[in-house]
Amino acid sequence: MIKQYGKVMVLMKKEQYLGVDVSPLNYEEIIDDIRQRIEAGKQSTIIAVNPEKVMAANNNSDLKNLINDSTYQIPDGVGIILASKLKKGNIRSRVTGVDMMERLIRFAAEEDRKVFLYGAKEEVVVKAKKNLEEKYQGLNIVGYENGYVQDQEALLKKINDSEAELLFVAMGSPKQELWIQENKPKLAVKVFQGVGGSFDVFAGKVQRAPKVYRQLGLEWFYRLIKEPKRLKRQMALPKFLIKILLTK
Ligand code: UDP
Repeated sequence: MIKQYGKVMVLMKKEQYLGVDVSPLNYEEIIDDIRQRIEAGKQSTIIAVNPEKVMAANNNSDLKNLINDSTYQIPDGVGIILASKLKKGNIRSRVTGVDMMERLIRFAAEEDRKVFLYGAKEEVVVKAKKNLEEKYQGLNIVGYENGYVQDQEALLKKINDSEAELLFVAMGSPKQELWIQENKPKLAVKVFQGVGGSFDVFAGKVQRAPKVYRQLGLEWFYRLIKEPKRLKRQMALPKFLIKILLTK
């Protein structure tokens, strides 16, 4: 990907870990790029990449293609940053799914782009919508649907009729990404992001780790203490780093 910064042309190359692409762009670079893509009428997809997903994709070529076919594979997860350091890459800070969504929400509010929320339980998505509208003046959330509806045809019509340009899908991974892949061609939406449990965060149902944990790259540790059953999922991190070290 070639990007223009003022008069300087900078080559922004994606990095690859175990065959999975990771975008080197930060929040603002992604927003600038997305603005241009919307104006050009192009659709964009954002997928969060962490060691758990890379390890799963390593054994599943469909999942790997799904990730690599996305427009932006954001480095969500300190494991990706460590891998980039180990391999002398350039990715030094996380771009988390929940922060990316909030940055896009601000973009939508400031530049008058319509938003649709799909996923989570009914009371969660309703509360997330209300809280976001209260926080971001001018935000236009034109529709929402919980993540347990059955009638997909009606849902697609509802999204298209709303004329939403940004769609956030919160159904956990890879369910949300598979849904986006399948339905993107049928939708007039321009920006798709799979956001996992983010609606629960915006609804105030799930607390994020305190800032100090996030700054130290220890959000995973905080979440582990809160939900010890995540240990199995988090075992992907050391396995991933060992694999990275063992590959050229
Ligand atoms: N969810 C949903 N439909 C489903 C399964 C899950 O809407 O069929 C929602 C669930 O209510 C929760 C979110 O998806 O809000 C799952 O978030 P999780 O934390 O598991 O996702 P992760 O961020 O770990 O991928």
